[in-house]
Amino acid sequence: MKPKTVMFWSPEFKPSDYVGQANEVSDEDRKLVARFFKKGKVTARYKGMATCRYEGCSRLIGSTDMMNGHYIYPAKCWHYIEEHDVWTDELAEVLSYLKEEWQMKTAYRIKALFNKIGEHSKEAEEMLKLYEAMSIEEKGNAFGGDDSNSDVQMTLYRIIDAADLIP
Ligand SMILES: [Zn+2]
Repeated sequence: MKPKTVMFWSPEFKPSDYVGQANEVSDEDRKLVARFFKKGKVTARYKGMATCRYEGCSRLIGSTDMMNGHYIYPAKCWHYIEEHDVWTDELAEVLSYLKEEWQMKTAYRIKALFNKIGEHSKEAEEMLKLYEAMSIEEKGNAFGGDDSNSDVQMTLYRIIDAADLIP
């Protein structure tokens, strides 16, 4: 996939216009996106420090660009998410990218579990049925969501215990 630039502000695209929209997403999801940005690698260095573009905030936020996945973004752009409650369409897109990737990893883990505990295990078959019946949201949450009372999650954890694997 071609690299995509996000969180580069301009006079027409100001962080102060996007405050409070974070209310539409959960804290968990906001943290997920911030964490993803923090884990990136530096791809460009500039002379001079940039300051926060939010009016009234003059915090220094770095002099580098970073990259994670196919996203390129200014260093410390998570400052806007964490300190100014900013949420944009770009961030929503990053979030859905992360959730898709998370699901792929989850599916991969489940396959690995099947291989380990054996295809003919009754419990493995039961889990596969449960997994296939899950909604996209449930699949995403299966290995780490808040929904700790879900039957599906309890079954997944039972299988993981049985297979002696930590996800
Ligand atoms: Zn700021």
